Amino acid sequence: MSDSDGKKTLGLLSGGRSGQVKQSFSHGRTKNVVVETKRKRVVVPKPGAQKSATGTAGAAMGDPSKRPAGISDAELERRMKALAAAKARESEDEERRAAEEQARAEERERRRSEAEQKEREEREREERARQKAEEEERKRQEEADEAARAAAPAPVEAEKAPAADRSAPRGAAPAPSPRKVDRERDDRREVKGKPTRGDDDVRRAGKLTLNQALAGGEGGRQRSLAAMKRKQERARQKAMGGLQDREKVVREVQLPEAIMVSELANRMAERVADVVKALMQSGIMATQNQTIDADTAELIIEEFGHKVVRVSDADVEQVIDSVDDKPDDLRPRPPVVTIMGHVDHGKTSLLDAIRKTKVVAGEAGGITQHIGAYQVTTDSGATLTFLDTPGHAAFTSMRARGAQVTDIVVLVVAADDAVMPQTVEAINHAKAAKVPMIVAINKIDKPSANPQKVRTDLLQHEVVVEEFSGDVQDVEVSALSGLGLDDLLEAIALQAEVLELKANPDRAAMGAVIEAQLDVGRGPVATVLVQNGTLRQGDIFVVGEKWGKVRALVNDKGERVEAAGPSEPVEVLGLNGTPEAGDVLNVVETEAQAREIAAYREQLAKDKRAAAGAATTLEQLMARAKDDKNISELPIVVKADVQGSAEAIVQAMEKIGNEEVRVRVLHSGVGAITETDVGLAEASGAPVIGFNVRANAPARNAANQKGVEIRYYSVIYDLVDDVKAAASGLLKAEVRENFIGYAKILEVFKVSNVGKVAGCLVTEGVARRSAGVRLLRDNVVIHEGTLKTLKRFKDEVPEVQSGQECGMAFENYDDIRPNDVIEIFEREEVERSLG
Ligand code: GDP
Repeated sequence: MSDSDGKKTLGLLSGGRSGQVKQSFSHGRTKNVVVETKRKRVVVPKPGAQKSATGTAGAAMGDPSKRPAGISDAELERRMKALAAAKARESEDEERRAAEEQARAEERERRRSEAEQKEREEREREERARQKAEEEERKRQEEADEAARAAAPAPVEAEKAPAADRSAPRGAAPAPSPRKVDRERDDRREVKGKPTRGDDDVRRAGKLTLNQALAGGEGGRQRSLAAMKRKQERARQKAMGGLQDREKVVREVQLPEAIMVSELANRMAERVADVVKALMQSGIMATQNQTIDADTAELIIEEFGHKVVRVSDADVEQVIDSVDDKPDDLRPRPPVVTIMGHVDHGKTSLLDAIRKTKVVAGEAGGITQHIGAYQVTTDSGATLTFLDTPGHAAFTSMRARGAQVTDIVVLVVAADDAVMPQTVEAINHAKAAKVPMIVAINKIDKPSANPQKVRTDLLQHEVVVEEFSGDVQDVEVSALSGLGLDDLLEAIALQAEVLELKANPDRAAMGAVIEAQLDVGRGPVATVLVQNGTLRQGDIFVVGEKWGKVRALVNDKGERVEAAGPSEPVEVLGLNGTPEAGDVLNVVETEAQAREIAAYREQLAKDKRAAAGAATTLEQLMARAKDDKNISELPIVVKADVQGSAEAIVQAMEKIGNEEVRVRVLHSGVGAITETDVGLAEASGAPVIGFNVRANAPARNAANQKGVEIRYYSVIYDLVDDVKAAASGLLKAEVRENFIGYAKILEVFKVSNVGKVAGCLVTEGVARRSAGVRLLRDNVVIHEGTLKTLKRFKDEVPEVQSGQECGMAFENYDDIRPNDVIEIFEREEVERSLG
């Protein structure tokens, strides 16, 4: 093989002269290889060349016809000889030049290829070094192992290669491919000439260093391909959440209530596309800019093998002093009392009676200020704080916002009426909040009062009064006559003593917002019930999403105060915005902290709202419902006139249900029913419940088109009953009310002896004198009652048809304005099922 190659080379170099060739080649670095070749080449053709030269000269000499005229034979011979010599020299020169050029070209070629190879080696070595560095950095332990594994076979080859005999069987080398490459390389070298064994060995030994073996020539290329493959494999594994990688880079991912997909990817240090893909695989179509809720995000984080760290306000707001008070620092504090009970059982009257008797009797001036809560002092000297917002809606919404302010619930039950649905609700709320109750049996002054019935009724609801050997105190009172009020206050004070209510006045204040509004003159004002510590003028605080610096404190008597201690309600001035009832107030050290926390909470609330919007993708809701095959859900959308009723409804709805059926409130909100509500309801096959609100015109049209049911209610138990019935499938949706017509108020007149009369246009259906009417302002019910008059021109008429104008006046109500809408309805007598 090498011989034939050698011949080829010789052919190319035919006519080479040994001397000159040797000379020229002696400069080359790989001289010897070439020298041998040249020698062969030079030695063999020389005689031929000489022969040819003499031949040429002889031929010229022997041919007299070519002899120039006038030249002697001797002269001719001499000339011929000279010519021949010159020719020979010329040819020698030519040959030498050719050989030299060839050699130079060869040298150039070799150097170039050597340089190339070197460069390649260098590059590959660099590349490898870079890769290695990168890998090491990235993949620490695992990568170190990997690199070692990749490097390990190379030295073996490097050692083996020089020693290995060329005749050794091919399969002898442990890694055949590098050896084969090696051999190929040798073969290529032999093309240029047969190398001497020694030099070859030196070269090979020199070449096959570890680095060269790893990176050199084609072997290097092959390995880097393998490295590429490994790299790809790693990337693939990583994308798929490969086990190894998962274990190695487990991150603690801080997860707020809602998170944007791109931010989630960022926190996990995963690619956004992978996260989107993972979401898709879980059936959630979300783009990177969409916000997902914490539960969904948690699933994804777990899928990627990271650790979820749910962050709540408390985690981010660590600056808020949450140190537990030492028992020595604690001082007794007044109890905070909420009055609850059924509508019309006398809650407001009772609160007013307590305030009046105590404040008027005890305070100079006796001016009371309604700030949402007030304090009274009992005859025995105990101070009690009453929340001025009766009813469980406020109580529940406060609790829902994380502010448990009430220590004692006074359950008002009218002695002439006994236990009613809202009484039961109140009992349940108090029980849920684990707040002790005191029963105030009111209206005891009434002849029809039957306090004993109240006590027995309460037994059914597991409220056992002391008289029946229970632990619930009961007091007979009359808000009207003031009878028993002192007894009630003493009972509360006694209960408070049992509770051993304590707080530490000497710490940064913490409290809850009872009421808040934007006051025209004073800016945002919040009534805060201090729960722990003392709130002072100048304190910096954060309250919900707002913050501020206490500019002034005003107590329940309208007096400016410097400070407010535990259980004291005060109006706080100096807020940057109006917080919401139930928001918690915390005093912090610096304005920057307050600002930061407020901003964080605001963002959190925003995210949460966004997530709520995103989460209502109904495929998701449906998917969840489907997962739970045993439970069928009755979805509903709730709109109400005020937040309190919306919350109360949602709570009531969530209580409905058994093992088979569950009510799911898809959405609840305040204000008129809009197209969006209808859209949501349509998509999930839900009805829309309007509590003292109506659908606006576009929503009504949409509902008609899409066949969405809108149901209006103004009494909470009617709503509960209906939903209960629908959920249990026992009763098909019953119609309790029929809207028979609508009229729009065009003008309002004042008529003596009648009061205000509305000049109306009947826009839909019919206005009927005997029907019930509701006054709607901005689609919110503001009054419900009956008509005093229905006039067509001067005459009282029983009915007015659509398209006609008429005059209407309400019984006992005259806050009517142009553009108000009058809804005319008739009740249907439906038999109630007792659920
Ligand atoms: P609330 O809806 O529970 O706040 O009940 P209110 O305080 O508005 O009272 C409802 C009605 O019951 C009012 O007309 C009161 O005058 C009346 N009322 C309240 N307390 C008493 C009472 O002790 N005796 C009598 N006779 N009537 C009372």
